[in-house]
Amino acid sequence: MPIARKAFLAASRNKWLAEHFMRRPFARRAVRKFMPGEELADALGAARELVPARIGSIITRLGETLTGESQADAVRDHYLQAFDDIHRAGLPTVVSVKPTQLGLDHSIEACRAHLEVLAGKAVATGSQLWIDMEDSSYVDRTLALYRHVKSRHEPIGIAIQAYLRRTPQDIESLMDVKPMIRLVKGAYLEPPHVAWPAKRDVDLQFASIGERLLEASRDGRAHPIFGTHDMTLVRHLLSRAEAMRLPRDRYEVHMLYGIRNADQRALAAEGYTVRCLISYGAQWFPWYMRRLAERPANVWFVMRTAFAR
Ligand SMILES: Cc1cc2nc3c(=O)[nH]c(=O)nc-3n(C[C@H](O)[C@H](O)[C@H](O)COP(=O)(O)OP(=O)(O)OC[C@H]3O[C@@H](n4cnc5c(N)ncnc54)[C@H](O)[C@@H]3O)c2cc1C
Repeated sequence: MPIARKAFLAASRNKWLAEHFMRRPFARRAVRKFMPGEELADALGAARELVPARIGSIITRLGETLTGESQADAVRDHYLQAFDDIHRAGLPTVVSVKPTQLGLDHSIEACRAHLEVLAGKAVATGSQLWIDMEDSSYVDRTLALYRHVKSRHEPIGIAIQAYLRRTPQDIESLMDVKPMIRLVKGAYLEPPHVAWPAKRDVDLQFASIGERLLEASRDGRAHPIFGTHDMTLVRHLLSRAEAMRLPRDRYEVHMLYGIRNADQRALAAEGYTVRCLISYGAQWFPWYMRRLAERPANVWFVMRTAFAR
């Protein structure tokens, strides 16, 4: 793994750095490249702007590894409000959550109960609930939570990381719940016995799992989403889907706000289902460090912002 990527991922866990960096006005300006603002209204405003381009959206409030039960209750209530606001505004927007935001470190039972409430709300408002995947220490518990909630509510999806060596088996084990899977490469610092260290191996595993999911979607056993900005992979999987004559509503492409905007628009204009994941919230430091780790060239953008008048 490149040193710069390792350094940013290590920095993402540094509380001192987080406090100091987040106070800097230039840092707040730079982060705007990837998030429209800190409030729910900012995210919904950005979601509305994507509608004319036929791009749907996913919103997520930043913040992870919360400590107390009351914090998790507040996050659940925030997302309940978000579902209502989305519904009222008539937006093609769904919600994505991190299990640790909903108290997974504190109690898996409480986290499960929160997910159940949010899943019920997603159904009631005609939306969807998505569960993000965090570092590898959470995978077993997150899969168990997903299995539980998905077997009771239909429109629930989960992110699965192609860089984990275990992922092909995890995909097979989920097939009985007809999963909606957002396949991503994986954004955390993991040891080599857990995750493929070389990008080439991650890309190969992404392609083979993607093809497997497309096959499963043919008879309705899975709904694949390709969550990547890697246009070589995206084009490869879309052409596989075309060759299989899969209807275009059987699979989707999801990307992050501020990344590959032109490709998002082009894919939507070609008639593919595209969603853009929009983050908001005050706790953006670890998430922002992961974005820098993915593309260390982004640091030049931060520097330019720091020195710009
Ligand atoms: C919708 C969505 C949801 C996600 N959810 C999760 C999750 O739940 N758990 C998780 O671990 N990870 C998640 N991720 C992050 C993912 O794991 C990758 O870290 C991230 O998508 C970067 O990898 P890539 O697939 O774009 O491929 P890469 O090979 O890293 O990048 C391909 C190309 O995309 C562009 N690009 C990629 N990243 C950036 C960036 N930060 N800035 C500018 N350009 C960039 C570059 O042009 C690069 O050459 C999610 C990603 C997306 C798109």
